[in-house]
Amino acid sequence: MTKYFEVIGRDGPARRGRLRLERTINTPALISKDRIVSAGSLWGFGSVEEALEEADGHIDKDKLFIPPHVSVPLHVEPPVDLPQIETDGPCGLVVHPFFLDEPYPADVYIMGAAGSLRNPRELLKAVLEVKEKTPPDSALYAPALATPANLALLVYLGVDLVDSTRVVVDGYLGRYHTHDGTWNIEDLRELPCRCQHCRALEEEDRPDQNQNQNLRMISDHNHLKLEEEIRLVREMIRRGCLREYVERSVRVTPEETTTLRLLDQEGRYLERRTPVFRKSVMYSNTAESLHRVEVTRYAKRVLDRYRAPESEVLLLLPCSARKPYSKSRSHRLFAGALGSWRKRIHEVILTSPLAVVPRELEEVYPAAHYDVPVTGRWDLEERDWLLGCLDAYLERSSYKKIIVHLDGELREAVEEHGIDAVYTGGGTNGEALSRLTKAVKEAAIDASVLDHKRLRVRAVTDYFFGSKSSDLLLAGEVRIKGREVQNGDKKTLATLTPNGTIALTIEGARRLEPMGAALGEIGEFLPSGAVLSPGVIAADEEIRPGDDVIVRGEKAFGVGRARMSGWEMVRATRGVAVELRKVEEV
Ligand SMILES: [Zn+2]
Repeated sequence: MTKYFEVIGRDGPARRGRLRLERTINTPALISKDRIVSAGSLWGFGSVEEALEEADGHIDKDKLFIPPHVSVPLHVEPPVDLPQIETDGPCGLVVHPFFLDEPYPADVYIMGAAGSLRNPRELLKAVLEVKEKTPPDSALYAPALATPANLALLVYLGVDLVDSTRVVVDGYLGRYHTHDGTWNIEDLRELPCRCQHCRALEEEDRPDQNQNQNLRMISDHNHLKLEEEIRLVREMIRRGCLREYVERSVRVTPEETTTLRLLDQEGRYLERRTPVFRKSVMYSNTAESLHRVEVTRYAKRVLDRYRAPESEVLLLLPCSARKPYSKSRSHRLFAGALGSWRKRIHEVILTSPLAVVPRELEEVYPAAHYDVPVTGRWDLEERDWLLGCLDAYLERSSYKKIIVHLDGELREAVEEHGIDAVYTGGGTNGEALSRLTKAVKEAAIDASVLDHKRLRVRAVTDYFFGSKSSDLLLAGEVRIKGREVQNGDKKTLATLTPNGTIALTIEGARRLEPMGAALGEIGEFLPSGAVLSPGVIAADEEIRPGDDVIVRGEKAFGVGRARMSGWEMVRATRGVAVELRKVEEV
C-alpha cells in the first residue's frame, strides 16, 4: 500500500507522479539528500539490534525514510535479510535488482548498486526485474546513475527518481556533462554552455584561481544541466512524445542505443504500458521507430483481429503526408478516379512504418497520427517488414484480383516480391488516374457492392474489443448514421470518435459485455465520475490506457475510458482506473 506516491500521467513506461513529502515532489525528479533521511548501511552499526533500534529515531514524516539496508556490490547476494520496519511516513526500501523476491511494501524502491549499472543488458534487466516485483503505484529510484545524456532513457525505462550524485562527483574529476555527452574539461577548446559557472570558468586564467574552485564550478554546471534535462523530460511526458525524444537522445552512445533496442525486444514490458491512443504525432524518424509498440501493435491487430471484407478486388494505394489519408489531395484524386466503382473494391494503403492500413482503420491511432521522412527510398529492413505484413495479410484474405497503384521503389518492391496484380504505375496526374479507372473498371465489373460504412464500424470495433466483437455490436437490426451506430429503436450503441477510437453507450456495452473483453469488475458500490483502482476487483488483462472499458459491479453498470492498464487497475492501490462516461444503478 503506497500512501505517499501517486501516478498521475503516463507515456509508455514513463510516468508523471507525486511523491508527498513535506513539499510534494513532482516526478520524474531529482531527489536531493535533504529530502531523505537514511538510517544507513547495516555495516555502519555495531549490531543488527543496534541498527533496528536506531532506525526508529530516524523516522521523519516529512522526509523519505530509508530503513537500515544491506549494501553489497551489484552481483553479490545480500548475506542477510532485514525485517520490515513499520513507519507511518513515506518509506524508501533498498532492493537488490538481481536478488529480489517479494519486497516489503514501500512508497519508493531504491535500486541498490544502481550506480554500477553500465552494461545495457544489466541495466535493462535490473529495471525490468524491480518493476516486475514491485507494485505499479510505487516509485523507482535509481541513485548515482543519471547524467544529462542518459536521463530521458532512464525515465523511459520506468525510473521515477534520480539524483545528481554521479554528475557532481564527475565534476570534481574534471568531467563536463551536457545533453550530448561527457568530456574531460581539458579537451574542450571552448565551453558549449553559457551558464554562470561556465562563464566564470572561461574567464581568463588567473594565477590565483583555485583548482578546487574550478572543479566545483564544473560540478555546479553538471548539476544544472541535469536539472534542465529533467524539466524537459517531464514536459515530453506531458506532451506524450518522450519516445521520440529518447530515440534521438540515445544516439549519444552506442550503449544507450543498445539499451533502447533491447528494450524494444522486450515487447511485452512496453506493450503492457503503452496507451492505445495519444494526441501527439508519432514521428518515425529512426531505425528504432519500426519496432515501436504502436507500430507492432497496429500491425498485429490488423493481422489478428481485423477481417478483410469478402471483396473481389483489392486496390493497393500509397500513403499521403496528410492524415487521415482520405483528406489528402492524392487520395481525393484517387477517389475521384474510382467514382462509383469505389463501392465495389476494397482499399488498403501500404506505408512505412505501419505496413498495411485497411481504409476502414485509417483513423485509428497511429494511422492518422504519424509522420515519416519521405525520400522515395525504402531500405531493406523497411521492405522486409512491409512485404512480410503484406504476405500475412493476403494469406488471410480472399481477393480474386489485386490492383497496385503504387510507383517508384515501393511498386518495384511489391512487383519483385511476386505479388500477382495489375500494376498501373501509380501517380496522380491525368494519365495515371485514367489508368487507375480503367484497371478498376475491368477488375470490378462483376464485383458486388460493399457496405463500407458497416465495414468501418466492424473493423474499428474488432480492433479495440477483439476479434469478432463487432458481431455482437452489429447483431440484429442496426443502422449507421454518420459516425453513430444505432439499434432498431434508434438508440445509439456506439460512436466512432474523431480520435479513431470507438465510444460505447450503455446499450452498446450491454451487447459486448458477454465477451468479457474490456471488462472491469468493481465492488459493491455505485461510482460517479470515476472508478479508482482500489475499487477494481478484476479487469481484463488486455485493457490499455485509452481503451473503452465496460464497468460492472453488483450495484452499477457503466462505461468509460481506461486511465491505466487492466493489470495495473488490479494491482494499484491509488489513482483513477476508469473515467466514467455513463453509469447506471442496477
Ligand atoms: Zn554551464
